[in-house]
Amino acid sequence: MAEAEVRYSAEVDVDFYKVLALARTASAEEIKIAYHRALIAHHPDKNTSRQVTIHIATIKEAYEVLSSPALRAMYDGKLQQKTGAFGPRPAQSVSLEDFEEDPIDETVWTYPCRCGANYRITENDMDNNVHLVGCSGCSELVWVGFELAKSD
Ligand SMILES: [Zn+2]
Repeated sequence: MAEAEVRYSAEVDVDFYKVLALARTASAEEIKIAYHRALIAHHPDKNTSRQVTIHIATIKEAYEVLSSPALRAMYDGKLQQKTGAFGPRPAQSVSLEDFEEDPIDETVWTYPCRCGANYRITENDMDNNVHLVGCSGCSELVWVGFELAKSD
């Protein structure tokens, strides 16, 4: 899993939202529908013009990333850094000190979201310098400041 995350986080040359013709605020359901639509539109057997502009592998990769809240949050973060502007939801910034260590897995910290679910950040995320994490229950993101906490 760690390997996959590193691979995806490096790939912002491809705009997965454009691959699936989606807005960056698309919901999980919209992503699913767009994925199936893109698969059909770009399938070599069904593309009568024989001009396959987007590879099926790219469509599958786009779906894999955008359908995973954690991978999507990471991808959005990278995309944001690259484009310098990102959609209508500026991430709230939260210090790692405000997170609570998970009582079972001490490599995981959680912070309550207003929707009732939690934001989660792992040691692995921090090692990979991932600051932007998604809520497990909604589409909100927070920017986690962990440099200060780690240098204590
Ligand atoms: Zn939430």
